[in-house]
Amino acid sequence: MSKNSHISSDILFIAGGGHSGSTLLDMIIGSCPEVFGVGEIAFYSHYKNKASFDCKRHPVGPICTCGKDMDECEFWREIFKDDEPSTLEELNTAENIKLLLNIINPFEKLVAFKVQKGNNSALFARICSVAYKYKNDLKFILDSSKNPFRLYELVKDENIDNGSITVIHLIRDGRAYINSYQSKKRKGLGFPIKSSCTYFIQWVITNILTRIIINKFNLNYISLSYDQFAIEPAKHLKKLNEFLEIAIDTEGFIDEMRSTTYHNMGGNTLRFDKPESIEHDQSWKRNLSRPKQAVFSILAFPFNKMWVYKK
Ligand SMILES: [Zn+2]
Repeated sequence: MSKNSHISSDILFIAGGGHSGSTLLDMIIGSCPEVFGVGEIAFYSHYKNKASFDCKRHPVGPICTCGKDMDECEFWREIFKDDEPSTLEELNTAENIKLLLNIINPFEKLVAFKVQKGNNSALFARICSVAYKYKNDLKFILDSSKNPFRLYELVKDENIDNGSITVIHLIRDGRAYINSYQSKKRKGLGFPIKSSCTYFIQWVITNILTRIIINKFNLNYISLSYDQFAIEPAKHLKKLNEFLEIAIDTEGFIDEMRSTTYHNMGGNTLRFDKPESIEHDQSWKRNLSRPKQAVFSILAFPFNKMWVYKK
């Protein structure tokens, strides 16, 4: 009997850096009959407890993608009314450092830091039981938290069988990643903007940590280049369908997405203003200065070649 016998669906996890198209991918995958997307569930405690809601990080407010306040949304009200799933609290810096050291420690089985974790299995079991009312063919609960620390937390949960976790490692061109974090939209929303170098390092580390976790715990995964996906979406959705044994409409996915009501949290504001088409955003070529383009084209080259533009 599997360890997670009380979780009836598997967990599909979108991993990788921010600003890499995860909100869009989350909605496209979540439009098919076998997948129920809950968004960036790592922020569960923020969205559940209005008092602790971080408006700086989520300027839109505690609103579900269906357009309602979280406590007025029919889906989340069902989840929240059961106090059993203990909320996942966000970890502080010291806890994050311990997590980082555990992840990169090859002898983790022998010696490792003890780290806090939320009651993920209870939360996912609760989500499954409610999500079944929406999707009869439910196969996956889609968590698009992206953060490798969050993935590690799930992998280390003794009540969740690692065989029931499937990862989509989504990676975007490092130059586009830097540009997206420094966008006018983010500046306008009042986000602190860091240097290009900081975002570059963040991009490299996040994706390396994700790969370390996948390899260390032998997780079932598929790697997806956002750039290649944006150029040929149907081809890559077909691959996802084959790998996950689900049925995303590879031609009509935009219409499917636009007509689906989602109940997810976190993510880009795109979720309230669903796109009418998919474009390969290469605005970094306009927005980054020529010297920056040259430097980061060189620095990102080996990683882009390995992760993003692999044949
Ligand atoms: Zn909702």
